[in-house]
Amino acid sequence: MDIIRLFIPRDEECLKVLEELRWHGEPECPYCGSKDVKSHGTYERGEIEIPRYKCKRCKRTFSVLTGTVFERHKLPLGVMFYIIKKLPHMSINEIASELGLDYDSVHRFAMDVMKIAHGEISLEKLCVAVEIDEIYVNSGEKKVKKGLKDKEAWERSGDL
Ligand SMILES: [Zn+2]
Repeated sequence: MDIIRLFIPRDEECLKVLEELRWHGEPECPYCGSKDVKSHGTYERGEIEIPRYKCKRCKRTFSVLTGTVFERHKLPLGVMFYIIKKLPHMSINEIASELGLDYDSVHRFAMDVMKIAHGEISLEKLCVAVEIDEIYVNSGEKKVKKGLKDKEAWERSGDL
């Protein structure tokens, strides 16, 4: 019955993809843009631990999810990746019933995604910070270098 689970990427893989897409492997403070940061423990999110960092310049702490659409929703990262991949092709109703989730949580996430994506829904657009302390730091237009590795990981997480 839970065959659908086979097609949902693991949260730790999603985390790696986000780190690569957003930072190209080198953490950067989303508040001031500094790369002079140090590790600052981890926090639990569902089944994984998300690394936190502390900026040496502005002294604030952050993770790769800070300010992104992923931070604002409780769904597992893999489930959110799956929804993003399916949104252009399926209705929210279909996605929710396929995942065995209630319509509202999928709908809320999908609305946020569409608001940020402005038409073309892609992970690259969604891994940038959209809102930090009510200030728009980066718009969805930020150019993100696409590595082959990311692309493969992303494709694996999608249509199989
Ligand atoms: Zn900073």
